[in-house]
Amino acid sequence: MPLSPTATRDLLAQLGHQPKRFLGQNFLVDGNIVRKSVELARIQPDDTVVEIGPGLGTLTAALLETGADVWAVEKDRNLHAHLEATLAPRFPNRLHLLEGDAVEHPLANLPIEHARGGFKIVANLPYAVATPWLDAVLSGPLPMQMVLMLQQEAAQRYVAHPGSKSFGAISVFLQAAYDVAPGHKVAAACFFPRPDVESQLLNLIRKPVPFVFPAKVKALIRGCFQQRRKQIGALLKARLPAHSQKWRELLQTGGLSDQTRPEAIPVEWWVRFSTMPPLA
Ligand code: SAM
Repeated sequence: MPLSPTATRDLLAQLGHQPKRFLGQNFLVDGNIVRKSVELARIQPDDTVVEIGPGLGTLTAALLETGADVWAVEKDRNLHAHLEATLAPRFPNRLHLLEGDAVEHPLANLPIEHARGGFKIVANLPYAVATPWLDAVLSGPLPMQMVLMLQQEAAQRYVAHPGSKSFGAISVFLQAAYDVAPGHKVAAACFFPRPDVESQLLNLIRKPVPFVFPAKVKALIRGCFQQRRKQIGALLKARLPAHSQKWRELLQTGGLSDQTRPEAIPVEWWVRFSTMPPLA
């Protein structure tokens, strides 16, 4: 698989493929970062790994070489066909390729019995769908670990703390289920073509007792963060008018008030809130 800008450019020319910006096609061309991604995920032979957007197969090949089974979903028809023709035959029955959209197939059609046995996700994510895809993954079944390459700004939002401008609904959903282990900054030069911004490799480890927010609570929390300048009292009064006594009590027990803004409310409070009748 290509592991330098020149080899990548040559392969793209050979395939007659122009990298598509709208699909976030910035291919990894740095062997150290590919190795680091596999190492951080501590992939063992027989592990089950889901990959989003295998592209030219650079990361995919490194994952397969560990002896793991890989389930991957690629939206680009030409790249999918290229991988089916070149990489799949090298790893019979171990590479399961799906041509499709990762937001519709967040786990690349990994069968539920494999998901239940435990799996990991390793991916250099297409930036345009990173958040809706992650949101879908966080509805479960949850991977044991995720090693994700992201644009710096998205990575910051995911791991942001309450009180920061970047703290949002996706930070709440992710941090209720995952701990963030140290990751790495990744320079634009590690990709071809070079993206305009720096990236970050995030290492997310599932909590011993992860929490998955039900779909309707997720919608409610998302709605609150969309009006993040408003106070929580006004937001909840509009959404749960018949239960104001309950959520007011809950705010008080959490040391918060009607005037607190959603971005200042800790993850643990949102978890408690979502288990409060009538939401639970
Ligand atoms: N994994 C490759 C690598 O690291 O070199 C390519 C990563 S590139 C950042 C993102 C890949 O995701 C591209 O191959 C792109 O075609 C694919 N992609 C973009 N949007 C997608 C979507 N909605 N569903 C699945 N794949 C998508």
